[in-house]
Amino acid sequence: MSRSAHPAGPRHADVLHEGHYAAPPADLNALDEKVWSRTVTRDADGALTVGGIGVARLAEEFGTPAYFLDESDFRARCRAWSDAFGGDADVFYAGKAFLSRAVVRWLQEEGLNLDVCSGGELTTALDAGMPAERIAFHGNNKSLAEIERAVGLGVGRIVLDSFQEIVRVAGAAQRLGRRQRVQIRVTVGVEAHTHEFIATAHEDQKFGIALAGGQAAEAVRRTLTLDSLELIGIHSHIGSQIFDMAGFEVSARRVVQLLAEVRDEHGVELPEIDLGGGLGIAYTSDDDPREPHEIAKALSDIVTRECEASGLATPRISVEPGRAIVGPTAFTLYEVGTIKPLEGLRTYVSVDGGMSDNIRTALYDAEYSVALVSRTSDAEPMLVRVVGKHCESGDIVVKDAFLPADLAPGDLIAVPATGAYCRSMASNYNHSLRPPVVAVRDGEARVIVRRETEEDLLSLDVG
Ligand SMILES: *Cc1c(COP(=O)(O)O)cnc(C)c1O
Repeated sequence: MSRSAHPAGPRHADVLHEGHYAAPPADLNALDEKVWSRTVTRDADGALTVGGIGVARLAEEFGTPAYFLDESDFRARCRAWSDAFGGDADVFYAGKAFLSRAVVRWLQEEGLNLDVCSGGELTTALDAGMPAERIAFHGNNKSLAEIERAVGLGVGRIVLDSFQEIVRVAGAAQRLGRRQRVQIRVTVGVEAHTHEFIATAHEDQKFGIALAGGQAAEAVRRTLTLDSLELIGIHSHIGSQIFDMAGFEVSARRVVQLLAEVRDEHGVELPEIDLGGGLGIAYTSDDDPREPHEIAKALSDIVTRECEASGLATPRISVEPGRAIVGPTAFTLYEVGTIKPLEGLRTYVSVDGGMSDNIRTALYDAEYSVALVSRTSDAEPMLVRVVGKHCESGDIVVKDAFLPADLAPGDLIAVPATGAYCRSMASNYNHSLRPPVVAVRDGEARVIVRRETEEDLLSLDVG
């Protein structure tokens, strides 16, 4: 796909994307359980409910657009990941997918650890009581201040991303009189079958230290010579929204090979490997994600097999799912505004949010589903593009979908699977107000991140 923004024009007129939604679904009112959070259903009147609460009441009480997060689903997914990996592995939730103080508390209650990659994420985690030793600190350009602070706090691990960072973290630890636990992030040379911008382990990108050319082995050698660093293992994250386990297999194999090299060269068996996150979720009915227990089995089988072949004790595995935990647990609720049928093309349905609350469609060509949720309808399907209210023709929320032809202004529609990388990537473009995140559970709804106000905007603008 093209990287650059493009004006509305011929490209937008390519009617359908690779066979997707080539035909309308059999039942426009059906809610595919793969793409909706677990407590979502329709009530007797046909309106969508989540956690037992109908969308009309939610819209009335919290306004639109808003993200509604199914708390029991979030907790169930946390448990599924920790149960699947059992006592032999650590699950680190990737906070960048969506982080708030409530989420940090849920993670603690469900026994998960947390990945952060900025001072802001670290502050949120600590403020909500996450113990520093359960936090991993990532990033390709952590500032000196962030490093100093993380070391001073005693974070459980810092993932070293470059040769300079080895020196920086060692220096901070030495000044603070600490021995910092670290992992080295390596790039294993895998092209994950996902969008180019979210594939991170092929070589021509900014993350990690390449296994190729002996770079990673050299990073290990340097780290082992520094007394203020305790090298606990090797880290590899190959990308995001991946369905195919083959990439993880190659990654695990290459990481284990490095462990064997390290043993042969230094006589040290590193005790851990981290295989990152990146597991895909269903955004549309065409996506077929794996269950955590299948993923756990596949990963542990390959690591065990490779270690046996190299005569290594099996290291402790950690994983870092973000999207796979929070993604499916939320939907965005919008109110339909103007509706514009374009003869022979499609109908543009405008909603009261857009690229400011979901940038993924514009950024990665991401695909989403959409449903009419304030009622059911027996009207014919119409091909729609759901767009926002921003001053960009690329302001698209759902590129190709079907909604009933009697859709009218004031109807509520919802886009499922917006729990990950939507609120966390939201912007104030056009001075819009970022929507709230409302947690819903057992008939109760409460705001966990409030809606921005115009006062919030003005308070940053000091005149
Ligand atoms: C983004 C990221 C993750 C999480 O990715 P998901 O696709 O949300 O599972 C995990 N680890 C690292 C290092 C990351 O950068």
